[in-house]
Amino acid sequence: MNEARPIRTAEILCVGTELLLGDIVNTNAAYLSARLAELGIHVYRHTVVGDNPERLSRALKAAFEEADLVITSGGLGPTYDDLTKETVAAYFGLPLELHEASLDAIRSYFTRTGRVMTKNNEKQAMMPRGAHVFPNHYGTAPSLAIANEEGTKTAIMLPGPPGELCPIFEEEILPYLKSRRTSVLVSKNIHIFGMGESAVEERLKELMTKATNPTVAPYCKEGEVRLRVTAEGDSEAEASAMCDDMIAQICRTEVGQYVYGMDVGTLEQAVILFLRSRGLTLACAESCTGGLIAKRITDIAGCSDVFLGGCVTYANEAKIRLLGVREETLARHGAVSEQTAREMARGVRERLGADIGVSATGIAGPGGGSKEKPVGTVYVGISTKDGEQVRRLSLSSMRSRDYIRIVSAGNAYDMILHCDK
Ligand code: ATP
Repeated sequence: MNEARPIRTAEILCVGTELLLGDIVNTNAAYLSARLAELGIHVYRHTVVGDNPERLSRALKAAFEEADLVITSGGLGPTYDDLTKETVAAYFGLPLELHEASLDAIRSYFTRTGRVMTKNNEKQAMMPRGAHVFPNHYGTAPSLAIANEEGTKTAIMLPGPPGELCPIFEEEILPYLKSRRTSVLVSKNIHIFGMGESAVEERLKELMTKATNPTVAPYCKEGEVRLRVTAEGDSEAEASAMCDDMIAQICRTEVGQYVYGMDVGTLEQAVILFLRSRGLTLACAESCTGGLIAKRITDIAGCSDVFLGGCVTYANEAKIRLLGVREETLARHGAVSEQTAREMARGVRERLGADIGVSATGIAGPGGGSKEKPVGTVYVGISTKDGEQVRRLSLSSMRSRDYIRIVSAGNAYDMILHCDK
């Protein structure tokens, strides 16, 4: 292997006709991209080619025009159409030679797994001259890295099955790439609820477009926005401090009041941490969310210290019997109303003996809306011993039932995080 230079840019080149046919999803590219990003290696492109040496050769040439590193996946098997290694070796002008250690490893893999080794498996022990060979404890195709003479272009070849590619990457490739890393990349996430992606971008436009290090990238999902702040520095401490500076700048803007946490994972995780840190308990009463508020909370194992339980009260009778919502309230204001949300939250809090009760009642659609209360009208309530508060949501009636429920649950969590108990 030639003297290696630092690696800053990469392309992921996946080989396999079944990927092009849509028979399998390219999970290897997603996995490799995420891992390389964590190492501070910028992935410029994903490419997929079929099992065709000419096209692979052209793709390789194009990839190396921009990238220091090309990681291939697939085409390392023993059959005639597995041609990745041969094609990459030809690109670097290297002959294939028998690699004794790999042949021994393949033989012992077959003995260990009680399978019969065929002649064509020997092909997998042929390696380009000077290759850095990584052992494969999960299959028969060893992985390898080769570089050009100047050490400026490196190709790493990995087997296609994710059950082999992922552990080999973790155990062998990661340490190899770390040894060639020039800088450290640190990312921190700002979690925002209650301000849409375009509003966040509008407020931070200048900061986001001017920033090159750290960079700020927004990701959004149902009512939530996550800003990923990424800094590149000489050390972890330096990059981390750069992120903190940028986070402080963002939090000083109007966006700051919508931030519910840093690197907290999800809203419901933030709720659990909030309740735990204050020694508070929670109960919920749900109508239109159909149990989603409780479901997302109980997705987090071991939350029974703070979450007591909940009631799904879809029909009026259930609201009356289980939560003590007054018949008069339902008759006068309707099930979808501020008053009902208030009584639901209070009822579940009192009946379960919780510190906080939350409720959601609304019209998730597609039918059931009216002029006064169109689809997307939801009342989210919160009750503590100090009283009740209700938030009216007017979500777009064009949104799906799922979306309306998810955003309603999100608002219930947000109200908990803002409750001044
Ligand atoms: P093998 O020794 O198993 O032939 P290989 O390195 O030649 O390994 P391929 O034959 O290209 O790999 O792929 C083997 C299997 O791995 C595919 O059938 C598919 O199930 C899975 N696979 C290949 N490429 C990918 C990919 N990019 N993402 C997810 N799975 C993949």
